[in-house]
Amino acid sequence: MYWTNYHGHSNYCDGTHLLEEYIKCAISQNVKAYGFSSHAPLPFLTNWAMPYEHLVLYFKEISELKQKYAGKIQIYTGLEQDYVADFNLIHKEWIDLPQLDYIVGSVHFVDRFEDGRYWEIDNTTEVFKEGLQGIFNGDVSQAIQRYYALTREMVQEQKPPIVGHLDKIKIHNRHEHFFDESASWYQEAIEQTLQTIAQSNAIVEINTRGVYKKKSKETYPSHWIIKRMYELDIPVTINSDAHHPEEVTREFITTAQVLKDIGYKTLRVLWNDQWQDFSFDEKGMDLK
Ligand SMILES: [Zn+2]
Ligand SMILES: [Zn+2]
Repeated sequence: MYWTNYHGHSNYCDGTHLLEEYIKCAISQNVKAYGFSSHAPLPFLTNWAMPYEHLVLYFKEISELKQKYAGKIQIYTGLEQDYVADFNLIHKEWIDLPQLDYIVGSVHFVDRFEDGRYWEIDNTTEVFKEGLQGIFNGDVSQAIQRYYALTREMVQEQKPPIVGHLDKIKIHNRHEHFFDESASWYQEAIEQTLQTIAQSNAIVEINTRGVYKKKSKETYPSHWIIKRMYELDIPVTINSDAHHPEEVTREFITTAQVLKDIGYKTLRVLWNDQWQDFSFDEKGMDLK
């Protein structure tokens, strides 16, 4: 039985190790297909996105690893591509790159401050509060509804095969209470977003990073959201958003159990260059 993971970083962006270290660890953790998804270059400065100048080398190195490890593990070339409001031209360019096998579409930025800076929603609680005040006059529900509106826009415009950490904006609730997931405005925002996803071909990743980094009690998205996804027949895959090689399959067993309990019978994975469904249990999938 084998695992897969399509959300992984490296020292090309904010990960800790060389690409090959993740592959070695993946093989030792029974992973049969691994996709790198470094943060795609952005047209403004961050301390985590890959610099544009490194993109060609990133593609080259992955393609060399594909050959070196052929027969042992399938390696895929991805990018975690931001969806940034008013930046349509930028991301469309990236998505069509012929070297890319897939992208993970993620929203990390919601609108801008008056000075032009983008508000990064998964930065520190301090930055989170700064945006709530500076952009949304302290109205948490407006800010979060905007985050989900951008997520829907991303699904429709950017059409990512995988939607990354759907409800990551809940990250700040861990230490301070900003909003209640049972609030009707929040549930409505989620419902609308899931309806949009259900009408697309997108897979929603079950991202385990919040759990093993102890930033959230449950995966991204929360279990109640996964239940609704199951009713809407939205396909899922389990990803770890690994930044360190040891994180490649963190919390996969517990997450597979959660998915099984909810009713999911299959995971959708990139295998032999095609997205396809495989049945699974807490030991993984019978990939062949
Ligand atoms: Zn992300
Ligand atoms: Zn990531």
